[in-house]
Amino acid sequence: RAKQRGRDTYHLFDPTHDLLLQVRHEQRQRFMDALKHGELRLFYQPQVDMRSGQVVGVEALIRWQHPERGLLSPGQFLSTIDATPLEVDLGEWVLEHALQQLTQWQNDGIEMPINVNISPTHLLVSNFSQRLAELLARYPTVSPSLLKLEVLESAAMHDVKAALKNMASCQALGVSFAIDDFGTGFSSLTHLRQLPVSLIKIDQSFVRDMLSDQDDMAIVESVIYMANRFKRPMLAEGVETLEHAKALMALGCELAQGYGIARPMPPEAVSEWLTHWTQRHEWRALATL
Ligand code: C2E
Ligand code: MG
Ligand code: MG
Ligand code: MG
Repeated sequence: RAKQRGRDTYHLFDPTHDLLLQVRHEQRQRFMDALKHGELRLFYQPQVDMRSGQVVGVEALIRWQHPERGLLSPGQFLSTIDATPLEVDLGEWVLEHALQQLTQWQNDGIEMPINVNISPTHLLVSNFSQRLAELLARYPTVSPSLLKLEVLESAAMHDVKAALKNMASCQALGVSFAIDDFGTGFSSLTHLRQLPVSLIKIDQSFVRDMLSDQDDMAIVESVIYMANRFKRPMLAEGVETLEHAKALMALGCELAQGYGIARPMPPEAVSEWLTHWTQRHEWRALATL
């Protein structure tokens, strides 16, 4: 206890600690400004069915167009808002912009489902589905079935009851769910049974090295086997090469997303990419393997 008290005292008067808190505070303030001033934007990464060559949707990925630091990836700023209410503000911003994008694509004659990443903090807020319903009501031409929410297994595990409740209400609105980064959590099997998810995304860390690392290959194989047994569609993240794609197809995984297919891109680049994709014959040929 003395040690504990000593540590607390140390913290109270530790100037570096105060400085850290202040830096955090300033970073959050800066992020709030970015949200308000339109410095954030969504990039989109295509997801394809390797069997038919069809584009099945896109994942929305947040980017910060920072006036001084350039284009920032989530890895460079998301941690500063981790587990703060700002995560909810960001989440609502992302949902709203995805709905705007769906409206825009619809007007352009493109039917393109969007997957949105939902942080654990956001998924567990008590009025999550209510807020989503309000948002959807503001974009009445968009079918809720075009929206899929990607959630982490860990979010659901943190408070299973609350997660299940929110997910069920969202499903009632017509919105579906995917489990993101599957395989990185701990109780995969049990939760897979309970969670109302229509897509399992196998984490890119396993896919990346599956051709050279036997353990990763074993994980990929097991997840594919399991998803098939549970009759849940599954998508491989981080598909960087044609070799990955072929191996995944051979194992029975048909949906893929990764740099080999397309990098995340701004929305205005999507229609050109769609045209380009129809000419990627070596990838499209996978359909006939
Ligand atoms: P995630 O949801 O698992 O998204 C996949 C990440 O893998 C993206 O990174 C994507 O650019 C990257 N990726 C895709 N294909 C490949 C590939 O073939 N090779 C490699 N090395 N990487 C690939 P990004 O955009 O940096 O996002 C990182 C994470 O940040 C996301 O992981 C997600 O957890 C989080 N994130 C992104 N956007 C949002 C958002 O709008 N809201 C929330 N809450 N989180 C977000
Ligand atoms: Mg994701
Ligand atoms: Mg992922
Ligand atoms: Mg990830």
